[in-house]
Amino acid sequence: MGMIPVSRIHGALEKYKKGDIKIATVCSHSALQIFAGAHDEGFKTVGICARDRVDTYKAFGYAQPSEFVVVDSIKDILKPSMQDELVSKNVILVPHGSFVEYLGAKNIEDKLYVPMIGNRAVLDWESDRKKEREWLSEKSKVSMPRVFSSPDDIDCLCIVKFDGAKGGSGYFKVASPKEYYDEVKKRGITDGNTTIQEYLVGVRYYMHYFYSPFSDKGYPCKRGSLELTGIDRRDESNIDELHRLGMSGAEMAKAGVDASYTVTGNTGCVLRESLLPEVFEIGKRVVDASCDLFSPGMIGPFCLETVVTPELEIKVFEASARIVAGTNIYADGSPYSYLSYGKPVSCGRRIALEVKDAVAKGRLCDIVG
Ligand code: AMP
Repeated sequence: MGMIPVSRIHGALEKYKKGDIKIATVCSHSALQIFAGAHDEGFKTVGICARDRVDTYKAFGYAQPSEFVVVDSIKDILKPSMQDELVSKNVILVPHGSFVEYLGAKNIEDKLYVPMIGNRAVLDWESDRKKEREWLSEKSKVSMPRVFSSPDDIDCLCIVKFDGAKGGSGYFKVASPKEYYDEVKKRGITDGNTTIQEYLVGVRYYMHYFYSPFSDKGYPCKRGSLELTGIDRRDESNIDELHRLGMSGAEMAKAGVDASYTVTGNTGCVLRESLLPEVFEIGKRVVDASCDLFSPGMIGPFCLETVVTPELEIKVFEASARIVAGTNIYADGSPYSYLSYGKPVSCGRRIALEVKDAVAKGRLCDIVG
């Protein structure tokens, strides 16, 4: 089965009643913020919700979706009957991290024909680490950590990521080929599908951007413009709290304490203002390259995961081509979105604004795929 042709999705979109478009997403991840932001802009919303989560999503008066579509399994969305129901409701889906995780990138590309914000072609470019590197490093000329294709080449402190380790759990650090082979053996990793990346030493910042192909209010890109909607740092368990043990690495190893990078929450932050030109320039280069590689590019919200070194160099170790959970800190706007809008604009609200603007300009097809 091949990819759903964009023409089919745009065909459905053209039949939508423009005054009755609803914003929908799966009740998880950043859904509350997406619904609240849509309500801010006068949209009705649809929450696709697992049965056991409905009460949680009803517990937030303002953000609770105008309407629930209750499912036993989130994958039920892929059933044609469910998709037809969503299309008949004039729904535009907002994909978030859990949405892609629940449905699977391949299923979204091949089976999902409900109109969705953004460009589906990005799924291919971010899920394949080689293609992602071609996009970010070669085409965008963004500074990234070195990658070792063979463990035998390891000559510096590295972080080892392997497919199947979700959200940073199970990542580990090694500084030599021997350490790598010892760890892999100890952990019983057999599939060999690891990515060995130089460990970046510095401060982590997760930059939230929004790319609009037809706005001219932000930082100029080749086509359209780029906004900075916020920056967060992640709380990662247990790596971020290990210092509280007051133990050396050797003592931790002896006590059986193993570092992990699982995200448990997020905290807000701002950068030195003098770094902002570089933050925009990096974002712009990634957007411009995306337009060249998979037109119309990486539409809407995205995040670059970075480390700022003591030399004030910004290095990018990962990209997420959609709304990230760190934006939840800013449900009522971030310092940066206030500076852009003079009112509280969350990432969810920014998405709704874009849909509103696209409807007014008759350009929905430019932001929905
Ligand atoms: P990722 O799955 O790539 O988002 O990584 C999960 C976490 O691992 C990040 O949030 C960082 O804390 C850490 N991490 C990933 N890559 C690197 C790197 N190259 N250098 C330092 N820390 C990293």
